[in-house]
Amino acid sequence: MRIFGLILIVASVVFLAVLYLPYTAKNDTSAVISQFIGAAALVTMAWTQLIATRLPGIETVFGGMDRSYVLHKWLGIVSMAAILLHDTIDAELRGVRGPVLNDLAETLGELSLYSLLILVVISIAVFIPYHLWKWTHRLMGLFYAAGVFHFAFIGKAFANGDPAGLYTLAFSAVGILAYAYTLMPEASRRARPYRVRSVEEDGGATVVTLDPVGRPLRAEAGQFAFVSYDTDGLSEPHPFTISRVGDQLRFTIKELGDYTYRLRRRLRAGDTARVQGPHGRFLRNPSSRPEIWIAGGIGITPFAAWLTALDDDQTEIHLFYCVARQDQAPHLDEVTQAAQRHANVTLHLIVSQETPRLTAERVAKDSGIDPADAKVYFCGPRPMREALGFGLRMLGLPPKRYHYEEFEIRTGIGLRRLAAWVLARRDARTSQRAS
Ligand SMILES: Cc1cc2nc3c(=O)[nH]c(=O)nc-3n(C[C@H](O)[C@H](O)[C@H](O)COP(=O)(O)OP(=O)(O)OC[C@H]3O[C@@H](n4cnc5c(N)ncnc54)[C@H](O)[C@@H]3O)c2cc1C
Repeated sequence: MRIFGLILIVASVVFLAVLYLPYTAKNDTSAVISQFIGAAALVTMAWTQLIATRLPGIETVFGGMDRSYVLHKWLGIVSMAAILLHDTIDAELRGVRGPVLNDLAETLGELSLYSLLILVVISIAVFIPYHLWKWTHRLMGLFYAAGVFHFAFIGKAFANGDPAGLYTLAFSAVGILAYAYTLMPEASRRARPYRVRSVEEDGGATVVTLDPVGRPLRAEAGQFAFVSYDTDGLSEPHPFTISRVGDQLRFTIKELGDYTYRLRRRLRAGDTARVQGPHGRFLRNPSSRPEIWIAGGIGITPFAAWLTALDDDQTEIHLFYCVARQDQAPHLDEVTQAAQRHANVTLHLIVSQETPRLTAERVAKDSGIDPADAKVYFCGPRPMREALGFGLRMLGLPPKRYHYEEFEIRTGIGLRRLAAWVLARRDARTSQRAS
């Protein structure tokens, strides 16, 4: 997440606070504070809508798309907390009566509050199937608009034409426009046409190669794109890392759900594709430091792209490729050959069915690199990322030199991990008492 984006959001709320300040002296202070909190929620929710558009420039301001989505999620949660607080602290100003639509504004405010609350709870419940989640998530903007109506027509300490009113309404307009943009049909979004050259299988994954129809996408190794096909059942865009960049694009896809299941069975050479992007900031930034690359299963995709794009820099690179079984290792031959071609690259294949799982200590021992001096790049399952990240930090790796890409755009708020931690503590205590 880019600190610049975060500062921008905080500044937009602080500026609103400054605009509200003069009204605290002339009115019931707690009511004005409550109104400010409600308006601040509209401002932060406008940011969440803007981030969801995936428009060019969003990643520059807020960081790679995976991080932008984390910010989007937490901003949504913070906004919800603010709305609840606004509802708890009485916001009614004595002697101030809103315009004609005041009563309707009040009703819509309540509707917005409870509907958004339900939708936010649904959003963070990761067990809800993606398709259901996606449709309920789309309703958010509608209740956001209800919240904006509430702000515009409820009795306030100032008029809509005053700076605080204009500022909040301007942000709200941006939020509503951004929401409308996310509702636009996929076909109307900017995308480049491609044609499927081949669909193959490698190490249990589906490997799709696309030829450009017209001007090709200019992507950097490590970036990803949203891809959809005109093939029946494959028209919904899904994000995949480009596992080989160039005029042709290659995607390596693990079967994880309905869409990826259908893709493997229905996609044929000659089918047409639409590619949106490129997105992502998982880019290699060579320096004098030795590099450790860790891939967990399908997490090999950005590293496969990096290896094909590797130039002559002599940085020492150790690639740890962790798989469950050797026949479940996509692009193993390609990666092995690349390591043979580049004297500075060493491949460590970790097959968990044959050897213990990778640990930070083993990374340090097998590579011969002190993590305190290294730069580490990780792509793979989140529990593996967290375990290795923790272990490497214990060995001296500064957190800012641990780079990773999230393959999950939709993440919870860590309740499952919290529950696991609580249960683990309880078990540890029970066994301590027993011994
Ligand atoms: C930045 C990024 C890079 C990725 N790169 C790769 C890769 O190189 N190879 C690979 O195999 N997988 C990759 N994935 C994961 C891949 O996108 C999902 O596995 C795939 O979309 C699952 O779809 P499904 O319907 O088959 O599975 P489902 O079971 O329906 O979905 C599983 C999860 O995938 C996500 N997902 C599903 N549909 C969408 C969608 N339309 N848009 C966004 N997310 C969705 C949701 O989090 C969902 O919970 C990447 C994901 C991200 C975010």
